[in-house]
This record gives sequence, structure tokens and C-alpha cells, in this order.
Amino acid sequence: MSNQSKPYHYLIVGAGLFGSVVAWRAIQAGKRVKVIDRRNHVGGNLYCENRDGVAVHIYGPHIFHTSNKMVWEWVNSIVPFEPFINSPLANYKGKLYNLPFNMNTFHQLWGVTTAEQAQAIIASQRGDIKEPQNLEQQAISLVGTDIYNTLVKGYTEKQWGRDCRDLPADIIRRLPVRFTYDNNYFNDTYQGIPQGGYNTFIDRLLEGADVELNCDFFADREYWESVAEKIVYTGEIDRYFDYCYGHLEYRTLKFEHEQLDTTDYQGVAVMNFTDRETPYTRIVSHRHFDPSCTAPHTVITREYPAEWQPGAEPYYPIGDSRNSALAEKYRELAADSNTIFGGRLADYRYYDMHHIVEKALELEL
Ligand code: FAD
Repeated sequence: MSNQSKPYHYLIVGAGLFGSVVAWRAIQAGKRVKVIDRRNHVGGNLYCENRDGVAVHIYGPHIFHTSNKMVWEWVNSIVPFEPFINSPLANYKGKLYNLPFNMNTFHQLWGVTTAEQAQAIIASQRGDIKEPQNLEQQAISLVGTDIYNTLVKGYTEKQWGRDCRDLPADIIRRLPVRFTYDNNYFNDTYQGIPQGGYNTFIDRLLEGADVELNCDFFADREYWESVAEKIVYTGEIDRYFDYCYGHLEYRTLKFEHEQLDTTDYQGVAVMNFTDRETPYTRIVSHRHFDPSCTAPHTVITREYPAEWQPGAEPYYPIGDSRNSALAEKYRELAADSNTIFGGRLADYRYYDMHHIVEKALELEL
């Protein structure tokens, strides 16, 4: 088929946030757009499932936050966002601590009431580690032993499935510490959740696109490559190149959802379990994200990090030297290709939603 006779200007592989923002832009520019996704829904990991009136963030809780005014105004032009301040708690063996580490946390840990007292304790526990060799040393050099042992160690070891002494120091370049009584988890200027939820937001972005679900690009690659003048690919980058350099690795998650006959379970949206023994890292109580919810029950989710095997859902890229070097080689192939690559899987990078929006809005189409 010549370019002129192709039915679509763009084929977008993946109806996640990146693919949906690019689809919106192409539609605004008057282009014909086909979007395919291998899942049975749009929205990628932002997708929320309606469970008897409760919107459940089935791929993990999502709170939009940014300090980029342009990005905030743009997302609000699609759907107005409701303010939401994320203030998770840490539960360590039944005792609760505020997050992020701030004066409330320090008071709970040590009974101190002034910044000076807290700073003195942290300084006395930092030790003299000049060049941290592993994550444990890095964390202690940043926040001291008490915070590390109570709030960092167990959670991180569950998250990555390894002892903190076997994890590279650069997984945590900084651990934000605040010397004010401020439980707002994110430092960003803007924070919220779309009115009507993420599904409404994504549906608006995809208005005018021809969307096909349960449709894997690789099930008929030759056909899909023939339907559009340009392909935007948001799936795993190694798969696109037929794993020619080997598999990139990930950390995966298992989500256990439970419906409960109460309208509130834990009084907060997110509670982290920072001891090593509790097998999950956090419990999410979804009603907190949606003040308009009138269902007589709630749904909670326990989140279990797990070893990734090919075929499992890829959540977090692994930042070790093997995977970083491999990803770089795949990115070089992508740079020489006619296909446009974007999003967390095609870049093999962890991105928050505001990074994705920013990149998709800046993309040269
Ligand atoms: P995805 O959402 O993964 O979309 C890619 C899509 O491509 C998927 O739908 C997939 O099915 C499809 N696809 C892949 N391969 C193919 C193929 N071969 N054929 C057809 N379709 C294909 N960010 C925040 O800003 N705030 C938060 O609070 C937050 N919480 C998070 C919690 C968790 C547990 C996780 C893992 C991430 C969180 N994020 C958060 C990050 C956020 O999820 C990402 O920034 C965002 O989802 C990335 O969008 P994407 O389009 O790149 O990827």
C-alpha cells in the first residue's frame, strides 16, 4: 500500500496515558487515528474498575502531581481535576508514623518537638560513610539508623526482593526529610485526581480515535505495519526488536482486592507496611480517592511485590548495570527506526504521569 492509500495516518500501539495523549493531539490535528491495546480496556495502568460503585485502581493507586503549570492546565482542560493530597501512613509492627519523613514522624519516633532536636538525632546516627557501597549505607548516611530500620529497610527489601546490603546505593539518591509538620507526600505545586476518575479522562482523550481492544500488535505485525503512515509504539522496547539483545527485566506486583462491608477501612487512602514480615507493602482503600462515592461498602487492595518472569506484567524497570546497558542498546535501535517510541515500556524508564504527559505533548509528530 502506498502511504496515500493507507487507512490511518497513525497507528498507536497501546491505549495507556502516552498513547492516549498522542492520539488526542493527532485527532486535534485532523488526522485519522487507530489505537490498539492488548488488554480488554483503555487507560493502561491508570484504568479503574467499577466494583459495585467503587472505582478500584486495579494497577495501583494513581495520584496526579506536577509542578509544571502547562501540564496541569492541559490535563484540567481535558477534565477538571479534584484536589487530593496524598498523606500516606507507615505501619511498623502496629505503630503508625506519618510520611513523608517530617516533624510528625520525628515526634512519633523520638518525642522531639523542634527541628533542631530532630536534626541533632539524625546527625548523630548518620555515621561517617563517605562513599556508600550499598542501599543500606546510602540510606543511613541520609537519614540515620532509626528511620532506616523502622521505615526504609523492610519496605525496600520487600519492594526489590533483596537485602538492602545487596541493592545498589543509587536506587535512593535522596530520601526527602522535612523539618516542618507537613504530611503532604508530594512536593509538587499541583496535585489531584480527574473528576469522574481516570477512565473519564482517558475516554475524552480517545474521542474520535478508532480503538480496538484485545489486540496485540505482534499477533499480526505485518498487517498492523501496513495500516498507517506512522506507528507510535508504547509497548516493551525489547519485544519490538524481537529480544535481539536479550530480555529486559522488571519487578512485578500482585494485587489482592477485597470488598468489605464498611465505608471506611483504615481512615486513609494508603497505608505502607514497613516491617519485613508483613508480606505486602501497602494497603490501598479506594473510596478515599473518590469523595462522590455513595456505595455502602469499600474495596481495599493489598499490594505484593514479586519476581518478574517473561509473560508477567512489567511494572518497574530494574536500574542495575545489566538492564541499563541493554536498554541503551535497544534505545539506539529505536532512534534509527521509523517508528516513534514513547512511554514507560518503550523507554524502559520509570515515569510518573506528569512526565508522560509532558513527553507526549512535546513529541514531534
Ligand atoms: P502503560 O499505562 O503501561 O500503557 C501501555 C499500554 O500499551 C498498555 O495498556 C499495554 O497493554 C499496551 N501494550 C503494550 N504492548 C502492546 C502490544 N504489543 N500490543 C498492543 N498493546 C500493547 N504515576 C503518578 O504520576 N502518580 C502515581 O500515583 C502513580 N502510581 C503508580 C503506582 C504503580 C503501582 C505503578 C506501577 C505506577 C504508578 N505511576 C504513578 C506511574 C504511571 O502508572 C505511569 O506513568 C503511566 O501509567 C505510564 O503510561 P504509559 O502509557 O507509558 O504506559
